[in-house]
Amino acid sequence: MAKYIDPKCRLCRREGVKLYLKGERCFSPKCPIEKTGAQIPGQHGKKRSHGRISGYGIQLREKQKAKRSYGVLEGQFHNYYDIAIKSTENTGEVLMQLLESRLDNIVFRFGFVTSRSLARQLVTHGNVKIDGKKVDIASYITKPGQTVSLTEKATKFVFVSPNLTEKNVPAKWLSKKGAEGKIDRLPTREEIGSDIKENLIIEYYSR
Ligand code: SF4
Repeated sequence: MAKYIDPKCRLCRREGVKLYLKGERCFSPKCPIEKTGAQIPGQHGKKRSHGRISGYGIQLREKQKAKRSYGVLEGQFHNYYDIAIKSTENTGEVLMQLLESRLDNIVFRFGFVTSRSLARQLVTHGNVKIDGKKVDIASYITKPGQTVSLTEKATKFVFVSPNLTEKNVPAKWLSKKGAEGKIDRLPTREEIGSDIKENLIIEYYSR
């Protein structure tokens, strides 16, 4: 499977916003965007950041921002769009709900770990169960009513164990006790609360 190997912070700087890809570091003064602002990386970054951006460019950047936030590659992201556009529900909301329903995102939303990349690592290393059965596919689309739990081994990981307290509350559409949680329902668009403008993504693919 293809994998992006450049530093994650570079992706945030390219999109000009914090994408929160590195867990706790993103909330600390060590975040490069906190230190130097959201300058586009590279020798000509400063110059390019002042250039005018076309309508197409704005749509493209919004799609890239969403892909990078959720850690999804182009083919898969396009598949989500294809599913959303065929739905009778609001296309943008369905697209966002699909992204939110990915198993790696759900593990992150439960608060078991502090970033989606750590959540992906937990899943692909076989440390996550759905309804008691191991699932190691990060892109697995979860459904309301399913339970998600961590293996005994995972509860002892240093990047997991501090997060298993009652104080660490999950997203509103989820309920959790210790290392096990339930997906109560799909989130509404407001509850997802990201600054992604999905209408621009729909426009990008509809061209
Ligand atoms: Fe992005 Fe986090 Fe790096 Fe800041 S620390 S640039 S939010 S990945």
